[in-house]
Amino acid sequence: MAEVIVALDFEGGSEALALVDRLDGLEWAKVGSILFLGEGPRLIGELKERGLSVFLDLKWHDIPSTVAGAAKAAAALGVDMATVHALGGTEMMSAAVEAKGEMKLVAVTVLTSHDEASFAGAVGVGSPGGVLGEVERMAALAVRAGVDGVVCSACEARAVVSALPGHPLIVVPGVRLAGDASGDQKRVADPGSASRAGATHLVVGRSITRSEDPQKALLAVRAELEK
Ligand code: C5P
Repeated sequence: MAEVIVALDFEGGSEALALVDRLDGLEWAKVGSILFLGEGPRLIGELKERGLSVFLDLKWHDIPSTVAGAAKAAAALGVDMATVHALGGTEMMSAAVEAKGEMKLVAVTVLTSHDEASFAGAVGVGSPGGVLGEVERMAALAVRAGVDGVVCSACEARAVVSALPGHPLIVVPGVRLAGDASGDQKRVADPGSASRAGATHLVVGRSITRSEDPQKALLAVRAELEK
């Protein structure tokens, strides 16, 4: 069964920790740029003290030595999993892999906030295989560079799983419970579909964090995974 990672996209640590303390049985918390810039590394320690695994999602995309240094620093903080952008290329990903120690590293392919048109607009040229083709190409590049897995939407997960050797981690954001607004996410799926498509980890943010009853929403996500 896929593991659930709650994306703590809050400005303040106290808000983030208050939510975490309401979520029984939560195993993973995601710290992204908003919370990391608001609270810094101290918060990672506080989440670890609560027994949580921490996914640091800063999506590194820089020169190889800088990304290697960042991966080393994250591992030293006790981070369990972190992200790089596959677009940073093989040399950058390999440098991060060499520096990361036991920490898992996953490569972001095409952001779940892109659809075909916005992706084509961002890269400036039409990719012959569209978003799916680019996700497959970047996932293969990432796995060859030695990362532990990839981040993609549920729409590409099945194709990525069958194309990649070994059993890479498949981290899927853009997850919504039925009836929830997709917001800025374009390639979305419900938890059951994402899991059946091969996700090993689901990243769920607003469907839980902005719910009137976050614990109920987490249970609803889990119930879909158990079906
Ligand atoms: O609120 P929502 O469920 O859309 O949050 C998704 C989370 O996953 C956000 O923290 C976002 O930064 C992150 N993410 C994403 N798409 C990716 C990689 C990470 O939405 N490709």
